[in-house]
Amino acid sequence: MGIGSFDRYDRIIIGAGLYGLYAARFCGKRGERVLVLEYDDKPFKRATHSNQARVHMGYHYPRSLSTALKSAGYYRRFHEDYGFSVMDSFRQIYAVSSQFSWTNAEQFQEFCRSAGIDCRQEHESVFFQKGTVDGAFLTQEDTYDAMILRDYFVDEISTLKGVEIVYGARLKSIRKNGDVYEVYYDDRSLAECGEKQIDSSFGGSGAKQADGSIWESGTKRADGSFAEFGARQTDSSFGGSGTKRADGSFAESGTKRADSSFGESGAKQADGSIWESGTKRADSSFGESGTKQAVAGFVLNATYASCNQVLSCVENAGPDDNFDLFTIKYELCEIILCRPSEALRDYGFTVMDGPFFSIMPFGKTGLHSLTSVTFTPHMTSYDPLPVFSCQQGCECDPRQLCNCNDCPHKPESAWEYMRHLADKYLLPEYGYEYDSSLFSIKPILKSSEVDDSRPTTIVVSSTGPTFISVLSGKINTVYDLDEFLV
Ligand SMILES: Cc1cc2nc3c(=O)[nH]c(=O)nc-3n(C[C@H](O)[C@H](O)[C@H](O)COP(=O)(O)OP(=O)(O)OC[C@H]3O[C@@H](n4cnc5c(N)ncnc54)[C@H](O)[C@@H]3O)c2cc1C
Repeated sequence: MGIGSFDRYDRIIIGAGLYGLYAARFCGKRGERVLVLEYDDKPFKRATHSNQARVHMGYHYPRSLSTALKSAGYYRRFHEDYGFSVMDSFRQIYAVSSQFSWTNAEQFQEFCRSAGIDCRQEHESVFFQKGTVDGAFLTQEDTYDAMILRDYFVDEISTLKGVEIVYGARLKSIRKNGDVYEVYYDDRSLAECGEKQIDSSFGGSGAKQADGSIWESGTKRADGSFAEFGARQTDSSFGGSGTKRADGSFAESGTKRADSSFGESGAKQADGSIWESGTKRADSSFGESGTKQAVAGFVLNATYASCNQVLSCVENAGPDDNFDLFTIKYELCEIILCRPSEALRDYGFTVMDGPFFSIMPFGKTGLHSLTSVTFTPHMTSYDPLPVFSCQQGCECDPRQLCNCNDCPHKPESAWEYMRHLADKYLLPEYGYEYDSSLFSIKPILKSSEVDDSRPTTIVVSSTGPTFISVLSGKINTVYDLDEFLV
């Protein structure tokens, strides 16, 4: 129902991955009016699908007991609620590499005991090449099928009258106004995929980072260096990493654009759109017919890899609000899907604890996912907003990540490297063939790098009106949202 020129909701949720749709269902079931804005043309097209699909029990985190304990608790609840999407009829073998591992077999067993999770020692020679692993353990860990989970949420939500999902939404800005947030977006649901945008910038945000510096995301583009990526820190510091940037270049990220014409003052972009150098963005497209406006006293930012991008487009934050960006690095990751041999079909193998690999069933698809700590990440961005060298000639840029799976500039597969690594460990009968690749961006809290923990972090930027962001570590910690939604 429109109020003035606005549509008013109880909640606006940005992002239709698991976290967004879980929240939408949760609130919709309470009879609330909910608007979900999703960039892609369907839900669950990013991390919730393009991942390893492991329902974590905790084995993965021998250096973070807190992550392991939390995983174990949520594993059981996830099983109860979404067991229909879970595949558990396979044997998940964890092994500790005999070389270059942070943990040895004895420590792994001790860790499992402390975390209260089952692990039974197996003869490593049944699975692994001689001398490659220090110990092998049968564990209890499953895989979920994202497409089954997606269909469940979509069906459930379709029965909730108050929940509306807009696909193809292009967020323009979020403005705090009294006790509500006004959210401005274009509805591209009916537009052709890849349609050109005259102005893809996110409005002058002035978002504060954790280190107190200010990002001027998508604001003035008077100087060339700024225009190159559309966002910079006014103090030239480098997103919490402590490395100074004297000239606005990307020295540490290694992702400087080869195409200097991109974003140059008044320059034409590769996709044909024009950067409006030095002009304010509030704005030519803003308020044009096509831009919609919705208001709510509660906004949930459930955009995962885009969480900082959404945070940085909030305007009019008050002095007591905290719109610090998450201190994260971004990895562009590849999940390889393989067709398993007969012997491999009913097994999953994870070799840890360090730069090793994992091959395990991918939900109920009949395929296995193959990943490796070293080769799954193709590129890394240490910038507060994600900067990748492949963001050329497409809509994807540091202010809005597009879906890597749909992108012509996605990296070449690292299949040969990953296969080579796995083959060094596994006996030849556990063979597999390449099927396809999935790509997604993984945001990793810089503070997690020490112990390889994967906490789910929920930050309340403001209350009355409320603005919350969730940066999840895992699928089954989705229940962490509950207390923020009541
Ligand atoms: C490579 C990789 C492997 C992983 N492996 C596992 C694993 O084995 N087990 C596990 O439990 N977890 C794993 N994870 C973590 C897990 O995938 C995430 O914690 C979880 O999927 C995040 O869900 P989400 O709903 O927050 O994000 P997503 O599923 O990414 O959903 C975010 C949504 O927001 C949308 N969006 C982005 N920007 C905007 C915008 N401006 N406007 C509107 N919509 C927007 C996106 O299109 C997307 O649909 C992995 C993650 C990665 C990247």
